[in-house]
Amino acid sequence: MVEPRVPGRFRKTPENFTCENCGVSVAGNGYTDHCPKCLYGRHVDIMPGDRSEKCRGMMKPVHAFYKDGSYTISYRCLKCGIERRFKAAPDDNTELLLSLLK
Ligand SMILES: [Zn+2]
Ligand SMILES: [Zn+2]
Repeated sequence: MVEPRVPGRFRKTPENFTCENCGVSVAGNGYTDHCPKCLYGRHVDIMPGDRSEKCRGMMKPVHAFYKDGSYTISYRCLKCGIERRFKAAPDDNTELLLSLLK
C-alpha cells in the first residue's frame, strides 16, 4: 500500500549515507546533513540544501550553542577551513552535543 502524498513546493531528497568519520550508516530523511552519532557533516552545500559545493570535505563539529529553543552546531571544514552553522537534529547524539556547548 502506498501512502498518498500531497505534492509540496519543497522537494526533499532522502539520501542514505555512510559517515566517513565513524562509519555508521545514516538513513537520510531529506534534511539530514550530518551524522547523528559523531555529528560530523560534509561540506556539500553552498546554500543550505543545494548540494552544489564541490569541496566535499568533512565538517568537524567545533562548538554548539542553544538559542531560541534549539541547538545549533558550528562546523569547520577539515579540507578548506570554511566555518558553517547547522541546526542540530532531534536524533543527534545529545551527550556529544552537550560536550560542545562550552
Ligand atoms: Zn559519524
Ligand atoms: Zn570545504
